[in-house]
Amino acid sequence: MNNISLDIENIRKDFPILTQEVYGKPLIYLDNAATTQKPRCVIQKMEEIYSTINANIHRGVHRLSQLSTESHEEARKTVQNYIHAAKPSEIIFTRGATESINLVASSFCRSQCKAGDEIILTAMEHHANIVPWQIQRDIYGIEIKVVPISESGEIDLKDIEERISSKTKFISVTHVSNVLGTVNPIGEIIRLAHSYNIPVLIDAAQSIQHIPLNTKELDCDFLVFSSHKMYGPNGLGVLYGKESWLDKLPPYQGGGEMIARVSFDKTTFNELPFKFEAGTPDYVGSAALAEAIRYIEKIGLENIRQYETVLFNYAKEKLSQIENIRFIGSPTLGSCSVISFLVGNIHPYDMGMLLDKLGIAVRTGHHCAQPLMDALGIEGTLRASFAFYNTKSEINALISGIERVTRIF
Ligand code: PLP
Repeated sequence: MNNISLDIENIRKDFPILTQEVYGKPLIYLDNAATTQKPRCVIQKMEEIYSTINANIHRGVHRLSQLSTESHEEARKTVQNYIHAAKPSEIIFTRGATESINLVASSFCRSQCKAGDEIILTAMEHHANIVPWQIQRDIYGIEIKVVPISESGEIDLKDIEERISSKTKFISVTHVSNVLGTVNPIGEIIRLAHSYNIPVLIDAAQSIQHIPLNTKELDCDFLVFSSHKMYGPNGLGVLYGKESWLDKLPPYQGGGEMIARVSFDKTTFNELPFKFEAGTPDYVGSAALAEAIRYIEKIGLENIRQYETVLFNYAKEKLSQIENIRFIGSPTLGSCSVISFLVGNIHPYDMGMLLDKLGIAVRTGHHCAQPLMDALGIEGTLRASFAFYNTKSEINALISGIERVTRIF
């Protein structure tokens, strides 16, 4: 695949942080799975809202409040269109993917589960898709069944089906592993789950910025992601839920905005999506996220996917030439923008620290996936993760950096 349509040098100019030097070396930012950098238009959008229309939304009759409300609700529509949801009211703004999963786990288990019921997760989940379910398990006496992964870092549909029983109430699975880069066959998982009438949540924290997603075609019941991993601002996330499910689930938090009428005897709740948005929402963040989405769409997510695939394959090929490298997970069915590895006996932390001195930002450790580390029998990995603003020359710098560190050891 030869991508000629992306003008990366010009694209990089949109990201002020990328021109920085770290320890006198050009910054090479390969920690995009943790968070992505922000284009100038997103940063400017936040400044614009604060300097022109800042006012609390929904509750005001005055002009600024109306404009601010319009901006927030337009942002909801932008998100809706980005993931092809049927209605804007199926988009709930949260603080992040983590809060979105907590919301579903809490509201779903509280209203739909009883002791002995079962939830299915996979061994490659981020803590954000494990711990919220464990909290509910401990309240309601639910059981968690874990789908194992193969040596290449993949799950097998057969292993999911084997774990489904009459007690299975929910399946929650990541689309892309933040450690292995595995792209899970979510369409097939959803079809399988629905054939047993089991709802599915897709954790799209690591795919929303790389792979076009169509909630209508996928027919997923819930889908979650964070704004900061898709070039948008921090502290904002999205929960997509099918209207039929969101209608059924009780509110997650109480407060202003999510109510229809409050008295000390009884409170009735607002309609969707407000039922799940207690308190003042991040209307500055939502406008900036919409800007990030417009930015992604201007480049084209398909173009991004193609370019990142070329970059990923290049990185994999170059890295594989390093002596004593061991890739952690080598999925055959599909990988996405994340490569985890170890080099000889060098501790990932030491490698990460020395690469940092060369201006190269990679991540080291368990990547919030300790059960996965346990399953793999390792403590942690080095992880390089890519965005469309990365280049082959940055990957070359990573390779020479690793070779330099290896020589020191
Ligand atoms: N799920 C996956 C797969 C992730 O990689 C992450 C973050 O790294 C999360 C969930 C949680 O995202 P956040 O911390 O933005 O809520």
